[in-house]
Amino acid sequence: MTTAEHPAREIRAINPATQTVLASYQAHTAADVEAALERAAVAARAWRETDLEPRARLLRRVAALLRHEDGVDPGLVRDDAALMTAEMGKPIAQSRAEVEKCAWVCDYYAEHGAAFLAPEVIETDGSASGVRFEPLGVVLAVMPWNFPFWQVFRFAAPALMAGNVGILKHASNVPGCALRIEELFRLAGAPEGVFQSLLIGPPAVEGIIRDPRVAAVTLTGSEPAGRSVAAIAGSEVKTSVLELGGSDPFIVLADADLDAAVDAAVTARVQNAGQSCIAAKRFIVEASHYPAFVERLGERFAALRVGDPADPATDVGPLARAEFIADLDDIVERSVRAGARLVRGGQQPAPLGYFYQPTLLVDCVSSMPCFQEETFGPVAAVARAEDLDDAIRIANDSTFGLGASLWTDPARAPSLIPRIEAGHVAVNGIVKSDPRLPFGGIKRSGFGRELSRYGMLEFLNLKAYWIA
Ligand code: NAP
Repeated sequence: MTTAEHPAREIRAINPATQTVLASYQAHTAADVEAALERAAVAARAWRETDLEPRARLLRRVAALLRHEDGVDPGLVRDDAALMTAEMGKPIAQSRAEVEKCAWVCDYYAEHGAAFLAPEVIETDGSASGVRFEPLGVVLAVMPWNFPFWQVFRFAAPALMAGNVGILKHASNVPGCALRIEELFRLAGAPEGVFQSLLIGPPAVEGIIRDPRVAAVTLTGSEPAGRSVAAIAGSEVKTSVLELGGSDPFIVLADADLDAAVDAAVTARVQNAGQSCIAAKRFIVEASHYPAFVERLGERFAALRVGDPADPATDVGPLARAEFIADLDDIVERSVRAGARLVRGGQQPAPLGYFYQPTLLVDCVSSMPCFQEETFGPVAAVARAEDLDDAIRIANDSTFGLGASLWTDPARAPSLIPRIEAGHVAVNGIVKSDPRLPFGGIKRSGFGRELSRYGMLEFLNLKAYWIA
């Protein structure tokens, strides 16, 4: 379907904890999309000529708005964390941390953007030669709901600093977040068309990618969506970046500090109700630690407070959409049929809200659905490894390759990190994104990188120059 054909429809935001409709929005029409593309094309021509300092200033103002800094007009600030929690069910403390991280990434690129973009001199036989870093133009960002601010800001901050302009097609269950992010850039002084949100469904994406005014696309989301978007971009010979699913291993070796590993395992699995691409999903524990790890993780899961995400005391909120309960439970049930032992959790009907209890599956093996598929919810699947080589073999036996967490004596890290098939390995810590480090995966977790200078380079023309 092209942009000219997609029908108008209603987009509703539903609170997943209470199932109440928060607000209804009219989806943008084909005419709205056309107008937005034209505004973006005009803005791109001017924005690429804008000096770096005004671009940095824009990002600093967005950060100030997000942080409600002194000097910001109180009439412009909103409780962005509460908006996220209401639309997708993230516990409120985690929403607040997400807002702060968005401010950080804006400040980070405001501070380092000029250095990242400085032309590079490379000596050749010419009188002068090197590389200039020039923007591509209009970039479409197709984003998911699970970190509804962070996913957008980690694209937008480097892209705008580099002189690109952004069009956001956000997930349909977080329309309020999509519009608020557009508003934040507008309030911070972004010229018209530099950052726009379109409330549209997936069918409208193809026409936008194919539009000659659009230079590139980035998608964070599921594998089917990524395949579709990259195939369309490929057929148009346009750059794409894909940040897709993950089934990160959490490897506990015999020399690990077990207390620290169990603490981290709980957070790494149930943060955001387990709905994170880089959540630890497959726990692989060397034999000597296996019984104690399983016992302690079960105790810790039993103590988690599941409930209203707006309550600061809540550890685990609801899943973001009703259909995710059945998807997750299907993986759990098929894994149990394949021989996994359900120690606690599973689906327990709640009177209201899309809740799924923290669930522990043990005695898992690589071939089980809980190890082969992505468990996008609070389900920990634990496997026993005979030794180090067995642990690494199990960890790499996955179609995914996003992150990995390894618990061992740090002295062994340099020899073990290269053996793990992933885009990021954290040793004695949780995998987390950080503006200073590149973020992305290998295998079916996608291609390309976000964050750091490497992420900024994805949407730049590395223009070589040579003067006789
Ligand atoms: P999803 O269904 O793929 O949705 C993500 C975005 O893509 C939404 O805006 C969605 O729009 C859109 N979309 C869906 N199908 C599309 C298509 N065929 N063409 C164009 N756009 C399409 O993903 P999800 O299930 O909501 O999100 C969870 C997935 O994202 C998980 O697999 C998770 O691991 C992955 N993820 C990856 C990262 C990473 O950095 N690697 C980070 C977070 C999440 P609608 O909402 O309108 O359907």
